[in-house]
Amino acid sequence: MNQIKPNSLAARDIAYHLHGYTNAVRHEQDGPLILTEGKGIYVHDENGRAYIEGMAGLWSVSLGFGEERLVEAAVRQMKKLPYYHTFTHKTSSVTVELAEKLIGLAPVPMSKVFFANSGSEANDTVIKIVWYYSNALGRPKKKKIISRQKAYHGVTVATASLTGLPNNHRDFDLPIANIIHADCPHYYRFGKEGESEAQFAQRMADSLEKLILAEGPDTVAAFIAEPVMGAGGVIVPPAGYFDLIQPILKKYDILFIADEVICGFGRTGNMFGSETFKLKPDILSCAKALSSSYLPISGVMINEKVYQALRDNSAKIGTFGHGFTYSGHPVPAAVALETLKIYEERNILAQVRSVAPAFQRELKRFADHPLVGETRGIGLVGAIELVKDKRTKEPFAPQQGVGFQAAKLCQEQGLITRAIMDSLAFCPPLIITEAEIGEMFRRFAKGLDATW
Ligand code: PLP
Repeated sequence: MNQIKPNSLAARDIAYHLHGYTNAVRHEQDGPLILTEGKGIYVHDENGRAYIEGMAGLWSVSLGFGEERLVEAAVRQMKKLPYYHTFTHKTSSVTVELAEKLIGLAPVPMSKVFFANSGSEANDTVIKIVWYYSNALGRPKKKKIISRQKAYHGVTVATASLTGLPNNHRDFDLPIANIIHADCPHYYRFGKEGESEAQFAQRMADSLEKLILAEGPDTVAAFIAEPVMGAGGVIVPPAGYFDLIQPILKKYDILFIADEVICGFGRTGNMFGSETFKLKPDILSCAKALSSSYLPISGVMINEKVYQALRDNSAKIGTFGHGFTYSGHPVPAAVALETLKIYEERNILAQVRSVAPAFQRELKRFADHPLVGETRGIGLVGAIELVKDKRTKEPFAPQQGVGFQAAKLCQEQGLITRAIMDSLAFCPPLIITEAEIGEMFRRFAKGLDATW
């Protein structure tokens, strides 16, 4: 238990602030970590202590902290036109520019982008578009959306239902109807004794097809997947997995949705994870690195087939009855445009590709550690899974909170990482240098040794 001084920021935080994804009792006992500033890959707490932000905030601050150009872009736009909306044929000029830019960057031909404020709102919009699309085509029964165990797609009522993690359902009375979960394609955890990675990928695809047939293909509208599962533990799909799955979706006329909220904008070494894994989505959601998270903005791209159905239906019933007050808000749109400009000018993909091998090498160095069951990753995202028994892969009992302890000990070493059960995730700003990667993992090694 930390000493929390009366009337300190920590005491006031405990008194007034309900945190997301936080054990409230533990928060009252230990108090918060209060950050006051950031520069590059570092953030500083209220006592001036510096931490490497090994998670880029929430997988999101791609350009690191203190990027003046993004601040200036926001200020310029605030002075010019601080707000406008996108209802009833209106929009602001910068929003048009951003829409054009995003459609130009799309990994497959896309027709239109719809703007929202968060990944959850984007995916909530996706669900509504899928249902609207099925109704528009006169297929009112085709409404089920298949997600996957351990997927993360958000926390609204509908997107928390898509999310395949127990804490997002338990005691919230979720999931809602019409959302079902297929198997999680994590070879290390769910591969059978003697099963090759290719055989595992085939089994995952077969079980998806079985699920579709059991539900009835005329009731299944869409399948949603993160190219690399993030909040489920950084799960890189087994080789060949998506190549096997995509023809199945085609066969049963099921829309493919790529959730690029983490993978989008360079994380896996290509502009989109869809390029890395050769995905051909009909709908694509993105957020986070779209604006380097300096301001909230997200997007949903839809292809021409989906757009045509929406278009005709909106004419038939009078409107596409969906939109947020802040959809396409000009200030985050200006920041997003500037972010995309910086990605181009500084060739962010070349930067990621040049440092990713060092990042992946450093991750793998921990594979021999007695506490480590698996190291995994791609591009500039990865995880290290801690286990009780390396040989049998037996996990620690959840109540031991080993991952949480390890993350806390890393924090004492000046590194912010994220415990996902007993996996420690790494997703640093894309601007990280090789030397900084080395320093990040040196700090991690000290935290891990303290755990051990
Ligand atoms: N989709 C993915 C893949 C995510 O990782 C997240 C958040 O981490 C979301 C959706 C939800 O985004 P938000 O927290 O902005 O609502």
